[in-house]
Amino acid sequence: LSPAPLADLDTAALREAHAAFAQAYDELKAAGLALDITRGKPSADQLDLSNDLLHLPDGAYRDAAGTDLRNYGGPNGLPELRAIFADALRVPVAQLLALGNSSLTIMHDTIAQALIHGVPGGELPWGRQSISFLAPVPGYDRHFTILERFGIRMIPVPMNEDGPDVEAVASLLAADDSIKGMWCVPVYSNPTGAVYSEEVVRALVSMPAAPDFRLFWDNAYAVHHLSDDRPAPIDVLALAAEAGNPDRPLIFASTSKVTFPGAGVAFFGASEANVAWFQHNAAAQSIGPDKLNQLRHVQLLKDADGLSAHMEKHRTILEPKFAAVDTAFRERLAPWGAGTWNAPKGGYFVSLDVLDGSAKRAVQLAKEAGIAVTPAGATFPYGDDPRDANIRIAPTFPPVEELRTALDGLCTAILLAEAETLLAGRD
Ligand code: PMP
Repeated sequence: LSPAPLADLDTAALREAHAAFAQAYDELKAAGLALDITRGKPSADQLDLSNDLLHLPDGAYRDAAGTDLRNYGGPNGLPELRAIFADALRVPVAQLLALGNSSLTIMHDTIAQALIHGVPGGELPWGRQSISFLAPVPGYDRHFTILERFGIRMIPVPMNEDGPDVEAVASLLAADDSIKGMWCVPVYSNPTGAVYSEEVVRALVSMPAAPDFRLFWDNAYAVHHLSDDRPAPIDVLALAAEAGNPDRPLIFASTSKVTFPGAGVAFFGASEANVAWFQHNAAAQSIGPDKLNQLRHVQLLKDADGLSAHMEKHRTILEPKFAAVDTAFRERLAPWGAGTWNAPKGGYFVSLDVLDGSAKRAVQLAKEAGIAVTPAGATFPYGDDPRDANIRIAPTFPPVEELRTALDGLCTAILLAEAETLLAGRD
């Protein structure tokens, strides 16, 4: 049986291929695997890179200005830590706040505040209007979950390699001023790895939109490079100000995949007016963030160069894993024309498109063979991928040998699912 694009096979050859895939799948199932490539978590050896955090701050408790960090106060976070991230995030230190342990919490709460109180430039709180958000797809499932919880309608827009399709975005915004927000992961987007071009960013900050429209600029992967070919950081705040819409971007980031997820530091950056709005809201929520954790992070990372050096160590661990994904798909899927995927230059994911109508079945087959993969559809609002084609691959967590085994099994499941889909279409 020599490989050829499945869709080109005549029915007899397709049946033959299906029988071979089914046999391979039975053998896979008999192997009794228990592997998990569902979520984009750092591996244990990546976490080891930050183990100094476990004993820092080593008795120290003052910042550079001499403030006692053991006490309440300092709602904006440590200036030293904000300075380390200001350049990579392209936010002036004065407008970059270092806060709690999760950027997702800040995004959630920002939307809650906008629903209750409205945002600068808006006439009414969002919650007193029927509002919607633009959601580039495929995208990050937890972004969609926040909106679903609040009952905010999501309108999918297609993603290209250089960011969302700006013509689609512009025509939607022009026609509908109930659109108040848009999710953006501008660097190494989750899951496609797309990096927004400067042209796309300029278009997003300048196109006509409601005065209280906000870009939720989730720069989660700004420093997570996997190659030497790196995008220059884009100063979205400056471009928005230049375009006359200084308040449009709200910037979020965190050290979750720099140090320890869940025990790191999250950031918020925006225009002066938005920062003042944020501070006013936050003052009712907290008497200040965990500044000792921030001090630990300053001691670990030291400065912007220290941050880059730290991220290089992550890259050394991650590069072989991303290479393993590419190799597996090239060897197992490409000969059958059974998938298209990206080779990201950074971030945490590979986005794989299989034959339309086959993703759910493939993920189900993989699961039944002991290989847990992100549920098909998770990368779309309401879990609904209209083509049932996209599968998000998260290769970072398992050791590389385990990852190879999981990918090989997943490919077996995909081939069987695609052969089934095609045969069903021939009946
Ligand atoms: N944004 C994106 C795009 C992510 O992929 C993730 C983590 N998977 C997060 C935010 C979560 O960030 P945090 O840990 O700071 O809440």
